[in-house]
Amino acid sequence: MRLLAQYIPQSPRLVKRTIETLTLTLFVSLSACEGRHEPPASLEPLPATSRHREALVLHQQAFVADLHNDILLAVLDEGHQLGDRHQDHDTDIPRLREGGIDAQVFAVWVSPSFLPDRAANRARDLIAVFDEQLARNPHDLGLALRAGDIARLNQQGKIAGILGIEGGHAIENKIENLRMFYDQGVRLVGITWNNSTDWADAAADATPSHDGLTEFGRQVIQEMNRLGMLIDISHAAATTVEDILVVSTHPIVASHSDAAALNPHFRNLTDDQIHAIARNGGVIGVNFFTAYLQANAREVPIDRLIDHIDHIVELAGPDHVALGSDFDGVPWTPTGLEDVAGMPRVTEALLQRGYSEEDIRKILGGNFLRVFRQVCGE
Ligand SMILES: [Zn+2]
Repeated sequence: MRLLAQYIPQSPRLVKRTIETLTLTLFVSLSACEGRHEPPASLEPLPATSRHREALVLHQQAFVADLHNDILLAVLDEGHQLGDRHQDHDTDIPRLREGGIDAQVFAVWVSPSFLPDRAANRARDLIAVFDEQLARNPHDLGLALRAGDIARLNQQGKIAGILGIEGGHAIENKIENLRMFYDQGVRLVGITWNNSTDWADAAADATPSHDGLTEFGRQVIQEMNRLGMLIDISHAAATTVEDILVVSTHPIVASHSDAAALNPHFRNLTDDQIHAIARNGGVIGVNFFTAYLQANAREVPIDRLIDHIDHIVELAGPDHVALGSDFDGVPWTPTGLEDVAGMPRVTEALLQRGYSEEDIRKILGGNFLRVFRQVCGE
């Protein structure tokens, strides 16, 4: 699974899903509180029911951020409307509301099939459809450029949308394009996707050629520091991550990656990398993809996701973990977390695991907000 060079020129969404795909199954939908008999009115509610209620209240009150969602591909390629509730896909505004999401990073994923000279345009097209969705849903969604925007939008009852490019090849080797994307509202860049760029090696590249970052790659990192953009190392090679940690003066993020100690997949982070990101002050968004959570798995319980959160917390404490669902970018997510509406079940599972309310608030969004404020400004 290390070699991922099948850049088939078909639907980019299909290409991405194919790459993440191992086998296919049907989800079994279950809810912790469904199917129980109601207790007689005179009895105390069942403990599970009160925990469920406690979780819903905490989830609703807490600031909840998700660091990676791929729905913009469907918006551009299929005309998916964020304002309407859908039976297909994982994400729309009604379900983001149900999921209690307060800030969502929308991935601007640029398929390498658009290389060499249509990658920047492809990113612009994705940004343009996001802008169109903002205009169509002015009461529900707004663009966040800095931390204050998130607070303002949330106070107005809106979801804060953050634009994040996935795949540094989108800048087509030009610092001017990085600045252009910043001016268009992009505040996060995934340094590589599965393909290495001309200036940074990817984790999926079986024959990396740069030993991390090139000199130009270092300039990109410095410019992102100067502009105030989040550096996202999910998908990047270990050597690239090491170089970034040397160059960057700001905390970095791994927007959608899990712990390699629990599943040694090339997309997951080693304990050394988790320690290094924590020392850097950064944050790791755990990915919901079942095959990253457990080797070759297509059905896993939400508890398995909590295992990865636990591992990162055990290594680095509660200040460096967040949520990076990868909804609409992967075919299988844990049972009960089939779409973004299931997010409150993460809070319920964290409570069940014994996490304090304070730590749950950090994991749900507090940690990401800290880093976003530090890098993108107040
Ligand atoms: Zn990804």
